[in-house]
Amino acid sequence: MLSTPAHPAFLKTAVLLTVLAVTQGCTADPRSNDPRLQAVATTGMIADIVGQVGGERVMVEGLMGPGIDPHLYRASAGDVRKLSNADIVFYNGLHLEAAMGDVLEQMRGRIQTVAVTDSIDRGTLLAPPEFAGAYDPHLWFDVSLWMQAVEQVERALSARDSAGAATYRANSRAYLAQLDSLHRWVQARTQEVPAERRVLVTAHDAFNYFGRAYAFEVKGLQGISTVSEAGTADVQRLADLIVERRIPAIFIETSIPRRTIAAVQLAARSRGFQPRIGSPLFSDAMGDAGTPEGTYIGMVRHNVNSIVDALLDTSPAP
Ligand SMILES: [Zn+2]
Repeated sequence: MLSTPAHPAFLKTAVLLTVLAVTQGCTADPRSNDPRLQAVATTGMIADIVGQVGGERVMVEGLMGPGIDPHLYRASAGDVRKLSNADIVFYNGLHLEAAMGDVLEQMRGRIQTVAVTDSIDRGTLLAPPEFAGAYDPHLWFDVSLWMQAVEQVERALSARDSAGAATYRANSRAYLAQLDSLHRWVQARTQEVPAERRVLVTAHDAFNYFGRAYAFEVKGLQGISTVSEAGTADVQRLADLIVERRIPAIFIETSIPRRTIAAVQLAARSRGFQPRIGSPLFSDAMGDAGTPEGTYIGMVRHNVNSIVDALLDTSPAP
């Protein structure tokens, strides 16, 4: 589903925005003592970039925490307040934040909003036919492509705060060097899985860029968005494929209910072949703050180790 119809929550939000716009002129700005640029980012992966590039000049707040599904996430009244008070707002774009589309649209013109995917050459994006002419938004799993989002953040911060341009450039360079090493590490690690076993079965279609970049066949139970639930036919179709190809492991995601992929495991077992369920993947949300998976680099490393370890393990599934 690409566009979200008007929902009562949006109407409420619209009223709130109007109220904020009216009252903002006569209330003191609570941030006036903080010299840093105030940024808000939608997903954790984007907040991580803004933190890395912004360094000490930028205070960034991420709206969507661990386990949150960005396709379904609706802005709360508190979020709208944070967005309204921000100097700059970063989001993924490509309809990832589908249910926040109206709120972001209303911010435009009043607050600088930046889609981190905006400057990426559309020719390098995936446009699956079932997505009706739109692009797959999950590009952060091709590390080399996500590096372009870092450059976009650097440009936007430098334009907004030109005094910090040299700092943003240096920070961005340092982070890009880390991501370049990460990309090469993922290439090497994924090569450990024999080509015929490089099939990634997940709850929803978040890993198509990963598949293209690192040579995996990717099968998602739900579509690219989680808005429509998988049906029984999808479960049976995937179970058939797992049994036929003897795929040793399938994966759940931290932002998707476990039942979706558990149903596939059950259907495969009833056909006499039981795939193991690998360590949960972080797909559209990162892990807890303060843990390795609470950073983009840690999340990618966790996912890749989880995928490779599970697909290399040919001992009987428990
Ligand atoms: Zn997704």
